[in-house]
Amino acid sequence: DINRWGIDIFKVAEYSGTRPLTVTIIPKLCFLIQERDLLKTFKIPVDIFINFVMTLEDHYHSEVAYHNNIHAADVVQSMHVLLSTPALEAVFTDLEILAALFASAIHDVDHPGVSNQFLINTNSELALMYNDMSVLENHHLAVGFKLLQEDKCDIFQDLSKKQRQSLRKMVLATDMSKHMNLLADLKTMVETKKVTSLGVLLLDNYSDRIQVLQNMVHCADLSNPTKPLELYRKWTDRIMVEFFTQGDRERDKGMEISPMCDKHNASIEKNQVGFIDYIAHPLWETWADLVHPDAQEILDTLEDNREWYQSMIPHSPSPGPETQEEEGHPEEASATASGSCCTSADKFHFELTLEEEEESDTESSTEDERGYGRTKNSSESGSSAAQQRNQAPSKDPGRTFSVGLKSDVAEEGAPQVPHFTLGT
Ligand SMILES: [Zn+2]
Repeated sequence: DINRWGIDIFKVAEYSGTRPLTVTIIPKLCFLIQERDLLKTFKIPVDIFINFVMTLEDHYHSEVAYHNNIHAADVVQSMHVLLSTPALEAVFTDLEILAALFASAIHDVDHPGVSNQFLINTNSELALMYNDMSVLENHHLAVGFKLLQEDKCDIFQDLSKKQRQSLRKMVLATDMSKHMNLLADLKTMVETKKVTSLGVLLLDNYSDRIQVLQNMVHCADLSNPTKPLELYRKWTDRIMVEFFTQGDRERDKGMEISPMCDKHNASIEKNQVGFIDYIAHPLWETWADLVHPDAQEILDTLEDNREWYQSMIPHSPSPGPETQEEEGHPEEASATASGSCCTSADKFHFELTLEEEEESDTESSTEDERGYGRTKNSSESGSSAAQQRNQAPSKDPGRTFSVGLKSDVAEEGAPQVPHFTLGT
């Protein structure tokens, strides 16, 4: 069921051999796009459409563990479900929907399986090309548009010049390197949101709608922790393989190993909890506020998954019984001690640095410290401790809490990895 949040995209991929996007996702995508009648609306010939998606799939790297065609298919499908949410019914134009689905499909194309910082540190062609700024993000968008020029691939050939320009502008606006900016704008929108008598969001100006679409692509990209736990864990297994592969390359080259990328020394579960607390939950909570009550189930799953990872943090006194069962590689025990997987930080390699006091609190307690339990039972969704902490910088810039995303930091020449430093 292509319309369901939490469809088992791995099973879909499994049935299709090496070309999940083409063999299985494509017909579904065609159906999905046909269902919306976009092919007809924009006079996209079916053969050109299929040709383009096959070419696009060829430019995702199948040997990359996470950022491959399955991830792309997952983000497209998640985006489709988000676009179908009741609160957004008839809000977007067909061109906006086309742009959003196109942006989702191309958003990680030609991903080499290493981070921006790795590309910068190794003086790669890509980093040179983009002057070390949002290297991958720029590259994905450029390749996505470039592929339209391949033989019989221009799905937008019959769009008017104005439509093409407008679509391109919208897709380029989906550059997702600036998480905090996106989130801040979304929060402002939630505070001032207007709803029609039918309960549908009133987004009457262009920039508001683009902003919502931008955030939707971002949500879809960071949706792993909101999916059923078994799927979430598969994604996190994959991102760890990708991170560790990068870490191995860094070790081989005598470079400093990036956070999360050292297979001999990764606090997988803790980082995962941190990722949810400081990136995924603030984003999804704000999204849930915007489309209330449509995303409540998604938010509940996210919070349950967060509790599961918290309970799997290796230092806790009594690790779960499945721990030992799943541990197959003693030599990697330190990396996968709990048998669980970890972050789907995706673009957000991040490091969680807690001050001594807080760290011991986190480790010694298996209780819910973030207040999600309270949040769930409370109609006031903005009350979680995580969110309060997240808002702290704007209230008191003197605190040491800081969040920097790769592009911002990279511009200053410092490590690209966001650092989350808590404390006063
Ligand atoms: Zn992605």
